[in-house]
Amino acid sequence: QCAIDPNSIVSDACTSYSDLERLHAQLEPALDDLTQQTDFFAYYRLNLYNKACPFWNDENSMCGNRACAVDTIEDESAIPPIWRAEELSKLEGARAKHPGRAQRRERPSNRPLQYQLGENVDESCVVEEDDECDERDYCIPDDEGAAGKGDYVSLVNNTERYTGYSGMGARQVWDAIYKENCFSAKSPRGSLRSKTLQAAQNLKNVFQEYGRQHVDDGEDLYPLDDECLEQRAFYRIVSGMHASISTHLCWEYFNQTTGTWFHNVDCYKERLHTHPERVSNIYFNYALLTRAVAKARKHLESYTFCSGDPEQDFETKQKVLALADKAAAGPHTFDESVMFQDPGVMDLKEDFRNRFRNVSRLMDCVGCDKCRLWGKVQTAGYGAALKILFEFDEDKNGENPHLRRTELVALVNTLARVSHSVDAIQKFRVAVNTGDLSV
Ligand code: FAD
Repeated sequence: QCAIDPNSIVSDACTSYSDLERLHAQLEPALDDLTQQTDFFAYYRLNLYNKACPFWNDENSMCGNRACAVDTIEDESAIPPIWRAEELSKLEGARAKHPGRAQRRERPSNRPLQYQLGENVDESCVVEEDDECDERDYCIPDDEGAAGKGDYVSLVNNTERYTGYSGMGARQVWDAIYKENCFSAKSPRGSLRSKTLQAAQNLKNVFQEYGRQHVDDGEDLYPLDDECLEQRAFYRIVSGMHASISTHLCWEYFNQTTGTWFHNVDCYKERLHTHPERVSNIYFNYALLTRAVAKARKHLESYTFCSGDPEQDFETKQKVLALADKAAAGPHTFDESVMFQDPGVMDLKEDFRNRFRNVSRLMDCVGCDKCRLWGKVQTAGYGAALKILFEFDEDKNGENPHLRRTELVALVNTLARVSHSVDAIQKFRVAVNTGDLSV
């Protein structure tokens, strides 16, 4: 069902490999342009170094390789002025404060949000102050806190590729991520916060109990056959993310003997070609992310791109809308409307959301800076996609939950990453069949 057959259906999504590859060919130039050529999508603000792993002591699993390091932006003049700490601090103060959840609920529907942000300051231009996430978020926000906290990173200058990070540290994180897939259809009643904390505590207990021991049977942790669609989707998202990371590290692999970077076909064979279900999960994620971008089309029409340069902002917006248009004009890739419909599993959506938040928390346990950076970008990207798929009304504009700048940047960059994986897999596949790796 999920074999590498160009006509096979990417089960759970409503399309085939060949349809998605055609869509990929159409979207790729627009995606490359957006992620490589615009400031808005090139700079990502996150808390890369200051958050401890909340689940176990990871001091001994740090990666010391040069390839694991991230070049953060020390000189703020490289960043568009509006995002600099100095400028952001000007935006702070009563009128520019991000309205907390309670405030937002109290806001009369006829009063625009901008009122609380200052007349000329759009919400997407402001660093939010409340550390608590919106109950509709699927990810723990990473860019928040007082202006000046966190690091700016150029995603263009810190490509995701082989770093040498491996062994127990990496394995423990992947194991913990897959353990999040052990859903119980009925989660205990309680507040959202206590449930999230409880899910986190459960995970912590698992690792305290087993320490750093795990059973390495060489098998992927598959979901059980009788698992529902939602649970299968959760598994496929994380497995697809894992497989996409594997694709990138095989595509840009480092030969330590010769000191050169090369496309490692054996790595691809071992990690992907012999595991067609992992490849299928990459395509599943491509279907899910393109649907999210298409669904956000209307919302993006009124989105403010605030680099401080109106001409550049206009161009960025046109490029994003063109991407969303192309995604919307393609085949219908994913049908989110069939999920979370069964009245027997009312708590499932919340459980799903809490578990995905834990996956995002686990990124602070990744002991390689570069891997942590891309792990955070991609979990935030999937989190944004899930928020759009399950919390947005496609036809509404202002009433949808707020999409933070980091969420939009992460979504587009995550799609670009998966798009790159789809590209690399097609080339690797030819190389396995013909021995020729034409790049
Ligand atoms: P791993 O990839 O560590 O896999 C562990 C086990 O999980 C496997 O034995 C298999 O049973 C199962 N598994 C493997 N793939 C899948 C899948 N797709 N679906 C389901 N189960 C699967 N390394 C880099 O070089 N560059 C990076 O940018 C990078 N980013 C990372 C980001 C994160 C968040 C993490 C946790 C690790 C990252 N790594 C990165 C490390 C990399 O993912 C591997 O862990 C490492 O290369 C060791 O690989 P491995 O062969 O031991 O198997």
